[in-house]
Amino acid sequence: MSKYFKKNRSLFKNLFNCIKYNVNFYFIFFTMALYIGVLTGDFMRGAVTIVLILVFSYFSHRASHHIFPYNLFHKVHHDDKNNKKWWARILEWFVNFLQIGGIMLIPLNIFLEKWSGMKLLNNYVILYYSLVYTTHHMINYHYMKIDTHVRHHEDETTNFGPDYMDVLMGTKQDNSTFEDMRWSIMNSLAATVIVMTVYTRNLL
Ligand SMILES: [Zn+2]
Ligand SMILES: [Zn+2]
Repeated sequence: MSKYFKKNRSLFKNLFNCIKYNVNFYFIFFTMALYIGVLTGDFMRGAVTIVLILVFSYFSHRASHHIFPYNLFHKVHHDDKNNKKWWARILEWFVNFLQIGGIMLIPLNIFLEKWSGMKLLNNYVILYYSLVYTTHHMINYHYMKIDTHVRHHEDETTNFGPDYMDVLMGTKQDNSTFEDMRWSIMNSLAATVIVMTVYTRNLL
């Protein structure tokens, strides 16, 4: 197993290495998402939601780099002069939570269900993902200076995250390491506790 992504290796081999390198994290992360599906009596929709939200999040981050009006906000986070200021950090917490993490899909999902009677996504799984994504980016990435993300700040056309989406879409930087996600096991467990609280108290 190699912890490096190499463009000249096959897609299968790169994906295999990517998953294997973080197998503990992926196991916990997906198990917790599926558990939230079971907890909310909505297993199948929960399973579909976690896959769709991961894909959505990758493209939402890419859109934040060049599609108006999203690029107005995320651009601040990539501006080295301002991005350490308190207001820039708060702005990026909101951008992550609402847009890239997917919370903005919850009102759309509720509206669609009321309007057509068709429920598309599990809102609790969206909340779970958004909490993991936002804390992972704003705390783990920035305080631990994770190489994958340092490289995204140096070259904004690569390493959008999650790693396997970058591998699939050809945006993973050649010769860069797969991201060490082990600390995000904590984020996944903490997010699960928050979602369980929100669900049992009927807050959503
Ligand atoms: Zn970015
Ligand atoms: Zn960042």
